Amino acid sequence: MHHFHYTGQNLTCESVDLAGVAQLYGTPTYVYSAATMADNYTRLAKGLAGLDVQICFAMKANSNLAVLRHFANLGAGFDLVSGGEIRRVQAAGANVQRSVFAGVGKTEAEIKLALAGGIFAFHVESEPELARINHVAGKLGVKAPIAIRINPDVDAHTHAKITTGKSDNKFGIPMKYAAAAYEAAAKYPHLLLRGVQMHIGSQLTSVAPFVEAVEKVAPFAAELKAKYGITYFSIGGGMGIVYRDALASGQQAWWDAQPADQRPLTPETYGAALVPLLKPLGLKILLEHGRFMVGNAGVLLARVEHLKRGAGKNFLVVDAAMNDLVRPAMYDSYHEIVPLHRDTARRALVADVVGPICESGDCFAKDRSIQEVGEGELLAFMSAGAYGYVMASRYNTRSMPAEVMVKGSAFELVNARETFEQVIAGEKIPAFLK
Ligand SMILES: *Cc1c(COP(=O)(O)O)cnc(C)c1O
Repeated sequence: MHHFHYTGQNLTCESVDLAGVAQLYGTPTYVYSAATMADNYTRLAKGLAGLDVQICFAMKANSNLAVLRHFANLGAGFDLVSGGEIRRVQAAGANVQRSVFAGVGKTEAEIKLALAGGIFAFHVESEPELARINHVAGKLGVKAPIAIRINPDVDAHTHAKITTGKSDNKFGIPMKYAAAAYEAAAKYPHLLLRGVQMHIGSQLTSVAPFVEAVEKVAPFAAELKAKYGITYFSIGGGMGIVYRDALASGQQAWWDAQPADQRPLTPETYGAALVPLLKPLGLKILLEHGRFMVGNAGVLLARVEHLKRGAGKNFLVVDAAMNDLVRPAMYDSYHEIVPLHRDTARRALVADVVGPICESGDCFAKDRSIQEVGEGELLAFMSAGAYGYVMASRYNTRSMPAEVMVKGSAFELVNARETFEQVIAGEKIPAFLK
């Protein structure tokens, strides 16, 4: 469910006509729906009702300050992965006391920053990291709260670049070494064993791998509670979203029409399967969803530069490129592409939708059937709210795109398009070349 739909012929976000946003702020521009984000947050919280839940939004999915503030206002903490992200949380006017710090390579400076901010816990990925966190906490004269990330060796059945819970990837500590890792951790004077953590991958579309992983780790969590008095179990993030029928999936009718065995995962299904497994533990449950919280809450607006008709092949060249939205190039991912002005009288066109960058990978869609559109007309890439702007780059000296947030009939620029001067601000010609 989301808040992008046609009002008459025009695509709107909540009550805002997206063509107006593109007119005002140009393209490419990301647009986010505050209502969709709030809806996702609330549904997830309700789906796990009956548990003591703390939702830590995995901010690497979308770390715009307005998005962070919106989630903080709703009561969320954050799952953060760098010193920069700690500072973003603070810059958004939120605090890090409800946040957890993940990642395999935290530096001493980052650990210090997190401790100074009162981090809820560090999610530790290896034994050397225990020693480092203990060392930094000792220097500051504090105890660092930690949880160790367990790798439950579960196949998440997702894209190879986003699966994390198999024993052959770099994340977490295998189950069979986990007890020893906690014993080692308990010996450090400046560590406080606060919880246990797992995260098995991203864009999971069925609940079965979550159930399998929770069933594997829950008995261990109970042991840790008895032995060390841990107080929480973080079951990670990873809930998938709808990419293929993205626009239609904004409506309840679409969900109702899906055959039971093909229905994408919902927070209600997720909660119904997991609450009975988690409730008996009597632990606080942390959730670290990123994509689910924001993915369907954002679109990327782009303008058509040319319709290039080739021999047997059409190319729709748009002003957005792989530097703005890298997911298709990086993960072969699908984004639905829809016109901002829908005209059912027009024919459908089959075309490759491409950006202007000199890479054959700069292709958003191959042989896509789309309403015929010409130069200057506007398109929206659906489901672009997660891993969109945050993965954008300046490749080809293209400026970082703009970001806009909509709430009801209000909308505001929440990140101005980068200027050329900003792009080159840190660069200089060395004296020996002058
Ligand atoms: C990336 C990540 C998440 C969020 O994943 P989503 O698929 O966006 O929900 C949560 N926890 C950890 C440890 C992660 O690395």
